[in-house]
Amino acid sequence: MSDPVVHDDAAALPPAPEVIQMEVGLLQNFCEILFCPETRDAAIVDPAFEVDRLLHETARQNLNVKLALITHTHHDHIDGVAELCEKTGAAVAVNPREAAAVRAPGRTLLDATDGREIAIGRRGVRALLTPGHTVGGTCYLADGYVVTGDVLFVGGCGRTDFTGGDTAQMWSSLQRLARLPEETRVYPGHDYGETPTSTIAHELRTNRFLRCASFEEFRAMRERKRA
Ligand SMILES: [Zn+2]
Repeated sequence: MSDPVVHDDAAALPPAPEVIQMEVGLLQNFCEILFCPETRDAAIVDPAFEVDRLLHETARQNLNVKLALITHTHHDHIDGVAELCEKTGAAVAVNPREAAAVRAPGRTLLDATDGREIAIGRRGVRALLTPGHTVGGTCYLADGYVVTGDVLFVGGCGRTDFTGGDTAQMWSSLQRLARLPEETRVYPGHDYGETPTSTIAHELRTNRFLRCASFEEFRAMRERKRA
């Protein structure tokens, strides 16, 4: 029996944006600046804290911020969106299931629906709907890396006990990420692990949530451990 509806998320990706990872705020949040080295167009993932510091870095790199890429709409991932849009005119890419939570007056909204390619200059990423932590949780896949928000952490995964969380969906979302090419680098939404980034291969070997043999085992572990 073959697995139904398993498709290759990493097929025919556009060239990957370059990536700068920054830790911001007091909750160990990571922001990524994704940019095209040719056009200098940039996207900022989950701007919530220290927008001035993020924009200082984009100015230092001679980048034009065109987009806020939202993985999910918890406050520690979106509280800086309005400020970022005001200061740069950036549009906001977010899954429609969570778009109402983004308060950025006059913003241009771009629907980051599953499978959609989002251009960053001449580079680009693909939105992967990965619910479980939230209803519209989205990872952004580039050729060689994936930005995983609060779905997959280095050595962990997101909680499923907040509003909109769902342990079965989280399990499916993690399985989807686990099928990405093993060398894919993982950029998580928080600095909770031993290293700031990892790879799918390393997580498959070491992450206790990815090593579960069954959903039942995963559910018992996820619903016991609140981290
Ligand atoms: Zn969250």
